Amino acid sequence: MKDMEHEQLVFCYDEVSGLKAIIGIHDTTLGPALGGTRMWPYETEEEAITDVLRLSKGMTYKSAAMGLNLGGGKGVIIADARKDKSEALWRAYGRFVESLGGRYYTAEDVGVSPDDIDVVNDETDYVAGLWHKSGDPSPATAFGTFVGIRASMEHLTGSDDLSGVTVAVQGIGSVGYALCKHLHEAGARLLVADIYEDKVARAVEDFGAEEVDPGAIHASECDVYAPCALGATINDESIPELRCKVVAGAANNQLEEARHGQELRARGILYATDFVINGGGVVNVAQEFNPAGYNRDLAFKKIEGIGEKLQAIFAISDEENIPTNEAAERLAEERIAAVGRIQRIRT
Ligand code: NAD
Repeated sequence: MKDMEHEQLVFCYDEVSGLKAIIGIHDTTLGPALGGTRMWPYETEEEAITDVLRLSKGMTYKSAAMGLNLGGGKGVIIADARKDKSEALWRAYGRFVESLGGRYYTAEDVGVSPDDIDVVNDETDYVAGLWHKSGDPSPATAFGTFVGIRASMEHLTGSDDLSGVTVAVQGIGSVGYALCKHLHEAGARLLVADIYEDKVARAVEDFGAEEVDPGAIHASECDVYAPCALGATINDESIPELRCKVVAGAANNQLEEARHGQELRARGILYATDFVINGGGVVNVAQEFNPAGYNRDLAFKKIEGIGEKLQAIFAISDEENIPTNEAAERLAEERIAAVGRIQRIRT
């Protein structure tokens, strides 16, 4: 907690339902911590702790970069999403979230559906992303990623026209498929890969995409490589094989280590920092905190701002000759520090 500057780590256990959860609150300078809950069969408690620490810190940067008045948090439940879910487990989890008094708002993440969050909502109002409010964040994330790809190409070529631009999309899940739709409509040529054949077949049929082996998609000759599956796909092994001009996708934690951002820069590859380009989902969810209620049009208007945010990051990166991930982190940290400082003013 000290190394990554977390405020709070809460261990939750309920014998009856078998709930074993950890809630990480990284930073609440800008507002209550917001971040989804992940259900994953972690092999050890250490693995779960590492994940919740990394993910909650990522949420602090994402919300700060998006200009939201929210801090960063995340929950992890140590369980198998295919067999361990029960009403009692979700409600027990809801009671623990409630006990934090609004310091942490939860939502969906890997292994957790809006239906599950609905049951959590029986015990606490500190939830977001419910069906009857902002719902599934994936279309918003995909739209933001599309906007970010356009901004990246504009930085590189002076034009945000994607017709004829080749984009290699890794992972045709909720976000990947919706992203392909936007890209197809904009006239891009698509290369797609997924570990599930039916997901690839859908993109081939619907968008005329070309199928690529999942083990080779990152090495495709293309303008943009868009990782939309797992994290850490930009690493020592993959970087020498990249044949793209831009890395711009929706996956969280794309760089295995921060130094890989510098390595992309050294090879002349523009990296659209993950926590900025994939911030559309959190912007959409945050609209639920709007006193006038959730408004999809307003949310999507704000998501369009991701393009300008990336342009500002690219400009700092060029001016100061630093990697884009470093520029993006600095902007987020500066906002948190400035807002933190004004809180000393007594009102
Ligand atoms: P998803 O589970 O719907 O889709 C992921 C897809 O990746 C699946 O189709 C899966 O089969 C595929 N995949 C897994 N391993 C692969 C591999 N090695 N090669 C190719 N394909 C592989 O998830 P999603 O909601 O679409 O999210 C995608 C990524 O975006 C994740 O990293 C997620 O953390 C991130 N993200 C999602 C959102 C959101 O709103 N859903 C928001 C921010 C970030």
